This record gives sequence, structure tokens and C-alpha cells, in this order.
Amino acid sequence: MKVVIIGGGAGGISTASNIRKLDEEIEITVFTRDRYVSYSPCAIPYVISNTIPSFEDIVMRSPEDYAKKNIEINLETEVTAVDKDKKEITYVKDNVEKKMKYDKLVLATGGSPFVPPMKGVDLEGVFKIRTLDDGKEVKEYAKNCKSALVTGAGLIGIEIAYAFKEMGLEVTLCEMLPQIVPRSLDPDMSRIIEGYLESEGIRLMLGQPITELKGEDEKVKTAVFDDGTEVDAEMIILSTGVRAELTLANMIGCETGRWGIIVSEQMETSVEDVYAVGDCVESFSAILKANTISQLGTTAVRQAKTLAKTITGRKSKFNPVLNSMVTKVGRLEFGAVGLTTIFAQQNNIKSVTEKVEALTRARYYPNAKPMNVKVICDADGKIIGCQIIAEERVAERIDTMTLAITEGLTCYDLSNMEFAYAPPVSMVTDPLVLAVEEVSKKFH
Ligand SMILES: Cc1cc2nc3c(=O)[nH]c(=O)nc-3n(C[C@H](O)[C@H](O)[C@H](O)COP(=O)(O)OP(=O)(O)OC[C@H]3O[C@@H](n4cnc5c(N)ncnc54)[C@H](O)[C@@H]3O)c2cc1C
Repeated sequence: MKVVIIGGGAGGISTASNIRKLDEEIEITVFTRDRYVSYSPCAIPYVISNTIPSFEDIVMRSPEDYAKKNIEINLETEVTAVDKDKKEITYVKDNVEKKMKYDKLVLATGGSPFVPPMKGVDLEGVFKIRTLDDGKEVKEYAKNCKSALVTGAGLIGIEIAYAFKEMGLEVTLCEMLPQIVPRSLDPDMSRIIEGYLESEGIRLMLGQPITELKGEDEKVKTAVFDDGTEVDAEMIILSTGVRAELTLANMIGCETGRWGIIVSEQMETSVEDVYAVGDCVESFSAILKANTISQLGTTAVRQAKTLAKTITGRKSKFNPVLNSMVTKVGRLEFGAVGLTTIFAQQNNIKSVTEKVEALTRARYYPNAKPMNVKVICDADGKIIGCQIIAEERVAERIDTMTLAITEGLTCYDLSNMEFAYAPPVSMVTDPLVLAVEEVSKKFH
């Protein structure tokens, strides 16, 4: 059997590796436009900030490493067409067009940064960040700038803004909605991070879309906001979301939804012998019981493991997603899972919430820091969301809440759960327990 994989990102390369773990005979060929495979885009902000010394450090494997596993990697190669009847792809490498047959085709084409339709996005000094080469280009350019503006205050926007601050630039972070991280956090939780970013010298401009970028001598100079405010910056990063890359999927006739390719629990598309994983597909939301997007490296890798089982004829199932996320910006970690109160409201789910400020360690233990926990339950007390901000130990608690939501636990169930404790690492009553105890009181 020959498997052709289009895409060398987390989805594509993990599919290749996982098929090989399960089967030594299957022929596997990967195509990517990139100059690298097996790197972590998630680490780009930390190379820009110099926390990780070089971009080479975030490349985990080379094509030669894959060749040893009998996986063929084609770098800087564009797949331009797919003939699903002949089961054949057309690709262009070094300006030469060639064709290759497949038995099974995997679309792991990822996504492209969304570019808002406004004047000035083509000016010099305006960037998007998706690939390692984008990261290198941005870092080189930033070395000669004194100021930068980042538009879009999702996770990537915040991480890049902070990285620029670490490089010594004067940074403005803007978001058209009135809060940062609007997809994952409620406004009361966002405020805590907004305060921290401002205390670190990052200027925030919230609730105002940018309508135009103005330049001088073809270089970007000024961002113009909806209310007429103008902010000067020597470089501008557009981090205004990611759109699934669907060119080939549409060419083949794969069924698509609002955000991406529609796939089964086994990662099959609507076209026979064509599969898809990663940022280009829609996932099923565990809470909303409807399709959603889950453009996360973790989702891409889990989908790839499922697909490898499907392709090698094993029992496979990709579970619904909760979109658990975490990041660290400067001293502050923050994470979230499930729905925010705003998303719950938008989906007609009545929510009951409570927020507590606890500590990361026993009160008397040195360096105990505040830990803000917000828990969101539905009308029956079932946990449907959680948001946590602290200087340490956020990820493990988000994972606990992910498990709690997956298992359908209520706030009462969790308040009776056993948590490990020692003064340097927690409070005797865990911050999560304090939060669910508080929200439980609202049900009496
Ligand atoms: C700066 C940044 C930080 C991030 N941080 C996190 C994080 O902390 N945690 C997290 O979970 N996620 C994070 N993500 C998201 C995560 O990186 C993505 O969800 C993940 O990379 C998606 O993998 P993918 O394989 O679906 O797509 P991609 O990585 O985009 O790969 C798509 C591949 O398809 C190839 N391709 C597309 N079309 C063609 C074609 N026609 N011919 C040949 N090749 C083609 C591309 O060249 C590329 O190799 C971050 C992303 C960025 C950019």
C-alpha cells in the first residue's frame, strides 16, 4: 500500500510516524511546501524572545532521520492537483512537474493566517507568522526596529507581543473585541492578564478594529483605527486568526463545513481513500455536540494517531474536543478548557459560575503566588468550563478539569475528589476544590 501525505506539519508528519510505528511495509511519502519538517511552530515566539537560543533548536528531525524509517520527505514541493479517479497527485519540485500514484491520500494541509481585507497589508514591514521561515524573517526585521504593533490578541498575538517586548521594542497589542483571548477567557479573567501585560510595558488597544495601514516609501508606518486614532509602528504582525487551507480539498470535492473539511471519527473525508487531519478539519465539540474548530498542535497529533490506526486497519476513534489550552507569557501562565460564559450564553446554555483567588503553595510557604480559578457549570451543576491564571502549575489543573468535563463530573463530584498536597506545591485544599465548592453553593 502507498500512502501519500500532503503536509509536513504536526498533522502530516505525526501521521507518517504513527503509521510507521504500526506497519513497516506501507510506503509513505510526505510533501510539504516548507523548507523544514518536524518543527514546533508553537516555539516560534520563544525563539523571537531569545528564551530558546536559535530556530535550529526547534527542529526536531531532518528528512534524513525520516529516510532511516523509510519515510520519504519532499521539502519545498507544492502539490498542485489531485485526480481522485486516477488516484494520482501532481506536484512541482524545483520547477519540474511530476505525478505520483497513491492508494490512500492524507490531507494535512493546515491553515493560513487570515489577512483582514484592508489597505496596506502588502506594505513592507507587515508580517504573518505561521512557519519557521516566517519566524526567522520577523526576528531579523525586528532587530532593526524600535516599535511593533501586533493586531489580534489571541494566544499567538500575545506571545509575539511579549517576545517583542523581551527584544526591547516598544509594543502595542490591539484587538477589535473589548478583551484579550476572547475565545478562551471571560472578560473578568482577561483583565488580570491585561493588567499584567500593561505592567510589563505593553500598550493595549482593545475594542477597536484597525481599518487601514498607511506607509511611507512602501514601508508600513501607521495603523489607523476605526475611531480615527493613529498609532505609529515600524512593523506590524497580523495575528488575526487562521483559516483552513482547503484548495486541494475543494479540488477533490471533499465535503466542507463552516471552518474546514468534514471528517468522520476515523478521520475519513467524504471522498473514498482520502483522509484529513489537523488545522484543515473540523472537530466535534464535546459540550456543544456540534462541529467546531480546534486548531491546536495537540489536536493535530491526536488526530494523526487516530488516522494511523484507521489506515493500518485497526479500530480507531477520535474523541470530541474540549480545546484545552495553556500558555506562559513572562511570569504568567494561563489556561482554559471548555466553554466561557459568553460562549455558553451564545449557545443558549444557562451557566452558573464562580471565581476564587487561591494560592499556588501553602500560605506560609515562600513564594506562594495568587492562583485565579473560574469554574463554569451548566444548570445541573455539570462542569462545562474552567479558566486558570497563576505564575505556576496551571497546565496540570487545566488537564484535571479536562478530565472532569470529559467524564461529565459535576462541581459536587469534584469537590469530593482527592488531591495530592505538600506545602511547596499546593494548598491543603486545592484551588480547584475551593472553586468548585464555591460554585456548588449556588445550587443550594
Ligand atoms: C506561533 C504559533 C504558536 C502556536 N502555539 C501553539 C501552542 O502553544 N499549543 C498548540 O497546541 N498549538 C499551537 N499552535 C498551533 C499549532 O502549531 C497548529 O495547530 C499545528 O501546527 C497544526 O498542524 P497542521 O499539520 O494541521 O498544519 P501546519 O503545521 O500548518 O502544516 C501544514 C502543512 O501543509 C503543507 N501544505 C499545505 N498545502 C500544501 C500543498 N498544496 N502542497 C504541499 N504542501 C502543502 C504546508 O507546507 C505545511 O507543511 C501555534 C501555532 C503558531 C503559528
